[in-house]
Amino acid sequence: MAVWLPPFVDHHVHLQLIDSLRLRGGGLAGVVDLGGNAAVVAAMAREATGAGDQGAPYVRFVGAFLTAPGGYPSDRAWCPDGAVREVRSPAEAADAIDEQVSFGASAIKVTLNREAGPVPDGPTLGALVHAAGERGVPVVAHVEGSGTAELAIGAGVDVLAHTPWSERLDDTLVREAVSRGQRWITTLDIHRDDVESQQVAIDNLARFHAAGGRVLYGTDLGNGELPLAINAREIAAMVRAGLDEDAVIAALADPWPAMLHPDGLATRITDPEPSAPEDLPAWLAGAEVGRRR
Ligand SMILES: [Zn+2]
Repeated sequence: MAVWLPPFVDHHVHLQLIDSLRLRGGGLAGVVDLGGNAAVVAAMAREATGAGDQGAPYVRFVGAFLTAPGGYPSDRAWCPDGAVREVRSPAEAADAIDEQVSFGASAIKVTLNREAGPVPDGPTLGALVHAAGERGVPVVAHVEGSGTAELAIGAGVDVLAHTPWSERLDDTLVREAVSRGQRWITTLDIHRDDVESQQVAIDNLARFHAAGGRVLYGTDLGNGELPLAINAREIAAMVRAGLDEDAVIAALADPWPAMLHPDGLATRITDPEPSAPEDLPAWLAGAEVGRRR
């Protein structure tokens, strides 16, 4: 007897950096693109909608990375043309968001990477969060470097694009993130070759989850060699952070940044449900997208 579950989503991908055709027919019913050229990604989202019957995951997206002039990732070789929208002052915040929304973005991405360049100042970040709130789109932030998680949590950013890995967050800050309703996207497996960073991230996520924080499964597809499917290593790291089967499935099946998945999608797993937690990653990685007709 197959097990049927809600649709599974990778909440952190970069379609321009992967061969998205290889996502077809895998276990992902949906993906959330967290940064690229808004026009290009919007076209890919439309194409995926048309190709739904060929097993293409549905696509939601943020459009461009919003950041300070010269901020991350404008200096990176992988950064696609037109994927960074500089925001110089609070006065530019609303326009920058409206540009992304006009392409169909359903969330906004801000980068706060102090290790790679300037980040938006407090008033500019505040204006971005405020303008996004007025438009009903959540803000997701890339935080990297000392104090950037605190900056994002204090500013009311809705989602962190990665579990913070560059510093251990103290319990008070973790609890504040939880009480503000912040969600964290996992991306633990990108640190698989850096045990120390991964341990910091797992420790932060463990305390966030234990305090009642909402977790979203995400792998940062396009960042190095990652399976273009459900990633068993990501799930294994989530289990190490203390997430049980129900919590892992909730993180995979969350429709964020929307309230609902598109109609007619589900997850189907034909292998028998595992009895031991260590078998959970492989079992979930064997998922396929089931479509109702
Ligand atoms: Zn990313």
